[in-house]
Amino acid sequence: MSRVLVTGATGFIAGHAIEELIRNGHEVRGTVRSLRDPARVEHLHRIADALGGHLDLVEADLSRETGWDEAVAGREYVLHMASPFPATPPRDEAELVRPAVDGTRRVLAASAWAGVRRVVMTSSLAAVSAARSRAGDRRRTEEDWSDPDRIAPYAKSKTLAERAAWSFAADHPGLELAVINPGLVLGPVQHAASGTSVSLVRRLLGREIPAVPELGFAPVDVRDVARAHRLAMEAPHAAGRRYICAGDNVWFGDIARILDEEFGPQGYRVPRRRMPYWMLWTAGRFDREVRLGLDFVGSAEHVSAEKAVRELGWSMRPVRETLVDTGRSLAELGLVRPRRAERSAA
Ligand code: NAP
Repeated sequence: MSRVLVTGATGFIAGHAIEELIRNGHEVRGTVRSLRDPARVEHLHRIADALGGHLDLVEADLSRETGWDEAVAGREYVLHMASPFPATPPRDEAELVRPAVDGTRRVLAASAWAGVRRVVMTSSLAAVSAARSRAGDRRRTEEDWSDPDRIAPYAKSKTLAERAAWSFAADHPGLELAVINPGLVLGPVQHAASGTSVSLVRRLLGREIPAVPELGFAPVDVRDVARAHRLAMEAPHAAGRRYICAGDNVWFGDIARILDEEFGPQGYRVPRRRMPYWMLWTAGRFDREVRLGLDFVGSAEHVSAEKAVRELGWSMRPVRETLVDTGRSLAELGLVRPRRAERSAA
């Protein structure tokens, strides 16, 4: 059993990481920005209680110095997951970049000072392949880096934060660093407020978009991402390595088809029509999130998770299982409803 700190415990991935750690006998502390709203962390206590594990939560904000020394005290490992991941990009990129980069330095500095053995940082494919072009169908590996000068604010925040982490680790050889670079993380949500990435499935099941743009993703199940973090924490040889955790390209249209096959018979009306480029371009004039997607239309996300498979013994469940479990959890939490039910409620 090890004593582990998980930063950003309220997050979608962190909830599953905490569950994975407790299930495997580790003692967990989590950081949250504020403990004032018990509803935001209720699911975590429920999970810990159900597994008979230990969980305590402390306050720490990436933008502040306070709280981090207390958070890391007595910890052998830190899973650094906290980072701003808003559904819509802010007007000022510094709102993402600053807490991501400065916060990462704060977490690492406190960890080095406290004698933490290893930090496993949650980076992203955004730090690997965010600047891919329509023509760029080369398979990306851990050797690849996004160019921070050519990418959207969120991808820039992840790229610069991961760079800052490696640079800190190079200057502090006593502290081991391993990095996980997940693709688009989907899978069951544990509570109603979670998951920017899952909003893609929620929008499809809720028919919030009329048609499906030709966008490619490298999806991965949140439970597999949680396991990858634990494996990277436990495996001695993972120190100093980054690991891509994502499957091969899946088109938005394939995601819609799988959801339609599974949830269509239950009364959901999942859009299947392909969205023409002009429609996306027009929507992008009013919606900055859509505008950011324009560069990627028609481009597939080809990456290799072979290193994680080989070195960590990691594996991924099939994307259909992930999508079905995502949809079911959204329905169970009342975050999506079949059209039939909506009509009779009206
Ligand atoms: P999430 O649900 O939005 O979780 C983000 C967490 O970071 C939340 O706990 C949030 O706290 C915390 N946070 C944000 N700003 C903070 C600040 N200034 N100080 C302290 N905590 C702060 O997102 P997620 O999907 O679980 O993502 C977790 C990590 O995985 C992030 O580093 C993200 O970049 C990375 N990632 C996600 C995906 C994906 O598809 N989901 C893919 C690749 C990488 P609050 O609850 O207080 O806001």
